[in-house]
Amino acid sequence: IRWKQGEGWHDPAVVPYGPLTLDPASMVLHYGQEIFEGLKAYQQPDGSVASFRPEANAARFRSSAVRLGMAPLPDDLFLASLSELIDVDRAWMPPAGGEESMYLRPFMIATEVGLGVRPASEYLYALIASPAGAYFPGGVRPVDVWLCTDYTRAAIGGTGAAKCGGNYAASLLPQAQAAEHGCAQVAYLDAAERKWVEEMGGMNLFYVFGSGDGPVEVVTPELSGSILPGITRDSLLVLAKELGCQVTERKISAQEWLEGAADGRISEVFACGTAAVITPVGRVKHNDGEVTVADGEPGPVTTRLRNLLTAIQRGGAPDTHSWMRTLVPA
Ligand code: PMP
Repeated sequence: IRWKQGEGWHDPAVVPYGPLTLDPASMVLHYGQEIFEGLKAYQQPDGSVASFRPEANAARFRSSAVRLGMAPLPDDLFLASLSELIDVDRAWMPPAGGEESMYLRPFMIATEVGLGVRPASEYLYALIASPAGAYFPGGVRPVDVWLCTDYTRAAIGGTGAAKCGGNYAASLLPQAQAAEHGCAQVAYLDAAERKWVEEMGGMNLFYVFGSGDGPVEVVTPELSGSILPGITRDSLLVLAKELGCQVTERKISAQEWLEGAADGRISEVFACGTAAVITPVGRVKHNDGEVTVADGEPGPVTTRLRNLLTAIQRGGAPDTHSWMRTLVPA
């Protein structure tokens, strides 16, 4: 679907996958005026195909557009594009009940030709899809995380709360450094004080305080304005409360993470996002050392939340919050 100042949204089409033709002076190539989303479609046991809270992705796509100076795509066009593409790609849908899904990547780029630095007056909204295998083919394993103190991903007033390509550009070098330290993921701190935990490169973070028979508190960094408001994060806050946990959104410092993991006050750390759903965090490494949370095994709260959320998404548990949306009927 294309958008042009004065014309609005026009020319919707489903076309075979292939290269895009772009003018070399297309504004997206120079100033990064681009936004995207990531969500999954799951084959349901009744033969329909459904997605998890796609309205939330549509809403986040709108707010990302506004932050990037673009016209927001109406939710009905966003949601219809998901249904239309899944309908065409039905034969590629992985079967129900397994760990596989269809990953959907909506994105919007500035296609106006021009080198002046200002919001473009023409863009292209597009959606691509790909079958996605199990994130953990050999069973869920904790990931090691690099606590990054050299770089930040987003500052207050910047684009951190939007899902735009530029945020990920900032995270590429830290990601490579994490890999050099044997870590699969980067955890970022706030830009102002380099003290407070924000999120990982593509996931939000949670901490479980207390364990055993005592009360368990699930803590996640509050939305600071530079954290992406994850849809998985939002859903887990609801589910954790239902599982009887006390749920708190507040600032948590890197020091509290490292000390809490070392002295046992923090019994589990996990990260969450559309791709991995929930990933237990094992070791956290940083410039001055490393700490392993508990024994490095996925903890009970992490496991229960993961099992509950994946069951809802795959039609194996009651959808009590009406989170699942049918994209294509049986
Ligand atoms: N933070 C960042 C930076 C991300 O890219 C993502 C993935 N969209 C998340 C958090 C998790 O968001 P969600 O649960 O909506 O996938």
